[in-house]
Order: sequence, then C-alpha cells, then structure tokens
Amino acid sequence: MSKYLAAMLFGAQPWALLLLGAVGCARRPDHPPSAPSAAVAPALGAAALDTQKGAPGLPPVPPAHGKLDLRIVHPVPEDLLPARDSTFIFGSTGTGDARVTVNGHPVRVWPNGTWLGWIPLERDSVIRFRVEARQGREVQTITLNVHRSPAGQSRVRKGNAWIDTLALSPVGSAWWPREEYLPLRAKAAAGSTVRLLLPGGVAVPLLPQPEVQEVPAAVRAFDRDTNNLKVPLRTDRYVGLIRGRGFGQLGPLLGGVDAPDAFAVARSAIGFWPTGLMHDTLQPLLEAVKGRDTVRVAWPLRLALLDTLPAVVELHDDPAAAGPRDGVTVGRALPGGTYFWFFPAGTRAVARARLNAEVRLQLSAGADAWVPVSETRALPLGIPPPTAVVGSTTLTPLRDRVSLRIPVGVRVPYRIVERDRGLALILYGAAGDVDWIRYGRADTLVRRLSWAQTTVDEVTLDVSLSAPVWGYRARWDRNDLILEIRRPPALDRHNPFRGLIIAVDPGHPPGGANGPTGLREAEANLAVALRVRALLEAAGARVVMTRTADLPVELWARGQMATDSNAALLLSIHNNALPDGINPFTNNGTSVFYNHPRSQLLAAAIQRALVARLGLRDLGVARGDLALVRPTWMLSVLSEGLFMMIPDQEAALRSAEGRERYARGVVAGTREFLDAQVRP
Ligand SMILES: [Zn+2]
Repeated sequence: MSKYLAAMLFGAQPWALLLLGAVGCARRPDHPPSAPSAAVAPALGAAALDTQKGAPGLPPVPPAHGKLDLRIVHPVPEDLLPARDSTFIFGSTGTGDARVTVNGHPVRVWPNGTWLGWIPLERDSVIRFRVEARQGREVQTITLNVHRSPAGQSRVRKGNAWIDTLALSPVGSAWWPREEYLPLRAKAAAGSTVRLLLPGGVAVPLLPQPEVQEVPAAVRAFDRDTNNLKVPLRTDRYVGLIRGRGFGQLGPLLGGVDAPDAFAVARSAIGFWPTGLMHDTLQPLLEAVKGRDTVRVAWPLRLALLDTLPAVVELHDDPAAAGPRDGVTVGRALPGGTYFWFFPAGTRAVARARLNAEVRLQLSAGADAWVPVSETRALPLGIPPPTAVVGSTTLTPLRDRVSLRIPVGVRVPYRIVERDRGLALILYGAAGDVDWIRYGRADTLVRRLSWAQTTVDEVTLDVSLSAPVWGYRARWDRNDLILEIRRPPALDRHNPFRGLIIAVDPGHPPGGANGPTGLREAEANLAVALRVRALLEAAGARVVMTRTADLPVELWARGQMATDSNAALLLSIHNNALPDGINPFTNNGTSVFYNHPRSQLLAAAIQRALVARLGLRDLGVARGDLALVRPTWMLSVLSEGLFMMIPDQEAALRSAEGRERYARGVVAGTREFLDAQVRP
C-alpha cells in the first residue's frame, strides 16, 4: 500500500491510511510459522511446492555494471513529507559499483545499483537533499527540494505568547443542535490564559488539557520500535465548550457543499489582531495571554444553531456522479474516521448536526454516524423521524444459502455484526413486533433465530449457526430487508480446490508503490497474481481475475466482480510501502490483512506460508480497513508479500523465482486453510 493507494482505499486523505490502517499486527503465538502440510504436495505436484531446497529466502540480486545513471524515485521534487526527524530516500544508479551519499551520509548500494537511505532531517520547513553518486572518477549529483508538513510553521506569536492557527478545531462551517455543547480545541503557549472572544463581547474560557501524548499516527500503525512511542507529554493544548451561541452567516443544514471553499477563504484570512482593538466582525477571536504578552487570531468558524423540526434525509451515494456506483453510503463514528456502517441507497435517518461537508445522522438514541452531505437528500420538513416496526420473520433454506425476510416498514439504518457462529442484525430506530419467526423446512445451517429489543429504539435479531460464517449480504426488497447467509462451500476432501471459485485480485492501478529501479507495484502484483491463477487452475479451481491487463480498475468494482462471480475466496495481491517517517530497514517484512473476523484464519495460514517461502521478517496478520477485504459474501484477504522500496525485494519481484515463491506461498497457505475446513 503506498500513500497513493491509501487515498484510493479510503476515499480520503492519504494520511487516512495511517489513522485507519493496520494498527497492531496481531501475532499469533499459538500458530508458529511452519512448513506446509505434506497433504498439500500431491495436488500441486511435489516439485511445485518448494523450488528452493534448503534455507528460504529471496533470490540473489543480479549484479549490474552499466553506465552511471543516477535517479531518485522517492521523494519527488516539491513533495510534502509528513516526517519528523528522519526520512527514507531511494533510487538507482545503473551500476552496483557506485558509491552514493545523501547530504554527505553514505547510503547502502545493492549489486544492481539500487540505493536506499534513512536520512536525518533538519528542522527547516524546506529540506534540501544533495544526492551524489560516484563510480571511479565519474560523479553525478542531483539536488532535490522537498517540504516538510507545516506543523510548527503556523504559529502567530507576540513575545512569549503564541497560537498555532492550523491547530484550531473545529474550523469552517458547523450546524449544531442548540442544546448541545460543541467542543473546541486549540494549541497555544503552555501556561497561557486562553479565551474565545465572541461577537457581542462574550468570552468562552479554554482550559489546559493536561499531558497530551502526541504520537504520529504513522508511528502507531507501522513502527515496530516502541521507543518511538516515548514522546514528551505536551502541555500546550487547550480545550473548551460552547453552547447555545451562533455566529456568522450559514445556509440551510443540508444545503450545497460550499463549506470547504468558505473554510479555505476563512483560513487564508487569518490575521493578527492588535491587543485592545475592539472587533465588530461576525468572526470570533482566540486570545492567548502569557505574562505581559497577548496574541489574538481570528477563529475561522461559522456556527449555526439547530432547533427546528427534525430533518429527515434519504441516502443516495454520489447522486451527481455519472456512471456506475456501488449504491452504498459509508458511515463513520467521527468525521473523517474509519468506515463502520454501510447504508444501502434509500436508507432514511434524521440529520442532527453538520461539520463542513459531513452530516451527523442520529441512527437511534444511542448511535450516531457521520456521512457526506453530498449523499443526503433532504425530505420535506415536517416528516416524522423514521421508526421501523419489525414484524414476523421468515427463513427460506436454499441450496447454497439461507434467506431471511424481515418486514421493517421503512428503510432504517442497520448493521450486521459477525459472531463466532452466527450473525446479529441491529436495526436502528426500530421497535420489535415479531409475532412469528418461521424457520421453513428443517435446515442444517441455522440453529436458532431470536430477537430482542436491546435498547428503547434498537432491535437485534440473532441468527445462531451450526458452522462458522462463510459469507452474508443484505438488500432491500421494497421495505423488507433480505438477509442472505451463505452456506460453507462443499469441499472435496482430497482436493478442496476442485471446482472452488476463487477471485484473484492483482492490486492497482490506479495508484501503487514504486521500487528503486522504477518497478511499479501494479506490474509486480499482476505477475504474481497470474502465477497464482496458473497454480490454482492446475489444482482444479475456477479462477476469476479482477484484471489481467495493466489497466485501471476501480476498487469497489473489483469487490463487486468477486461477489457477482460467487467466489468463495478473494485473494488480493499487493506489495508494500511505508509512510514517510518510518525506518524502512527495521519495519519491512511480510504481512497479510483481513477485515472481517471470519477471514483471520485464512490470513494467518497464508502469512505462515509466505514467511516460510520468502524468508522475510514476520510482521504478522493485521486487521485493516481496506476495500478488497471488506466484501462480505466470501472470505477475503490481502497479502503484502514484499516491500517495493527495499532493493533486494524489488529485485525478487522482477525475477521469475521471486514471483513464483510469492505465488506458491499464497496457494499453499490457502490450501492449508481449506484442508483444515475439510478435516477440522
Ligand atoms: Zn498496493
């Protein structure tokens, strides 16, 4: 996953990956890395399993002795590095005989002329890299300017007093319930007296927030060195509350999305107010007093208070977009947060607040979700909030699934929660009136159905199964919710691959990481995935590829292809990258991601098989919010076998042997998992 992929995966800022991604690799000490079981060998052919006899590991890097040709792949000129005190830089020279220095620091050069360095940064906002490659008497240099993310560059200061203008929260436009507090956050010199001065002369105090531990999200997610968590505690953070006061002019709650522009204008207008000057603008000012020094800045916020009738909205994803869409609106527990709810088009709920382009829906008395305002359609004011009445439910056993029909009356939000052997369906804004639960003819998969009014306006329907969940999905049929639960596939005891439909997804384009010689991740992923296909087909599986050409395919379309083809498994093939600021020498290795708990054992089996064949550091399996592990109709995992930026790993991805080892690891791990299903 490159930072570019991260943006693609989350439809958000690149740094969203760092916030939402693989926090905490779940090592499983009860499953030590092991060789694949002997049972795998006959299906793939004994020679097929391990091309390497003896120690595992990557093939040697082929030496290059060409002309000196210095190139830098990362960073690119004028890049913005969210790095703290050091960053990585890499590229190639065309010859393994070159010596390379970056700002005078020698960096390692591999036999094929690739180089990778981990370089300390100056404290300036503009960083200059001088890369010098030398072979014999020949010298080439490239000078590169990049920028550092603006933390610390945005302080307005007077004497000892300062305020960080980029650390004010919230900014832009807010629509907030009149009776609810809006939390305020600011960063100012430690030991200051901080107040928000509102138009009309009211002052709201902000109090010091004691001992804030501010570890960069990238470090939390991707750095294995726990020493980097020991950051100094901050004492320059302030918090406050505002309630029942609005200021500035704002349009209606569900009006057009002009907020980000207005926000940009407001931010650019931030200025310094001389002490003592009375302001008669509609904009609030933040004041920090430290000793004899006072500093004031405009707080670029407009706040409208909501005390009207409830605003009922209907959700429709991206109604302005042309072409196909997935018909799902994503709900988040906080603005810009990770994906949590998936609301099908037509879902109705009450909009209760808004911050810039995100609306807060009240799902029930105890649950809120943030959705994009662009995916909401306002219903006429005066329509009561939707309340579902859950009626008698019927179960229909089918050949490959069971289908549950739940009459709800109105398309309220819902969420499906996986249990060990079963599912729970939570309906928000709902009251239970379930006279009957009819099971239909006797079925081996569904053990028991039960319902409960879990809160005053939430109904939970519990489906208890005789086997672990393999897949499920839900859709609206008029105002009935149809929940389909998939039966585990019937596996051949001797060769579980026989006849099994498996979707193989070569990650990217668009996006993807680059290696030091310029190998694109999309190209490497496709080469490995085509070998995975060949091995699976040789073993009797039916393989569906999400792409076979070097052409872009949207993320959601890839998942949809797997679902439409009724695949039992979805295997997404990637190679990894790190965010800026993380040491690549100590944090590279093999990892496999899953999203839904039921896919964790498959991820662990593939991880063991990959580590055994590639011989890299075992970064463990991790739960991640990635598009290709989110589909619910099958088991799905995403492997990050090697790191594009590490020269010998990139070289392995260029070689037939390295691709073969990666592909065989994926196939052997999958086989190991399936064998365990056949012979539990
Ligand atoms: Zn990737």
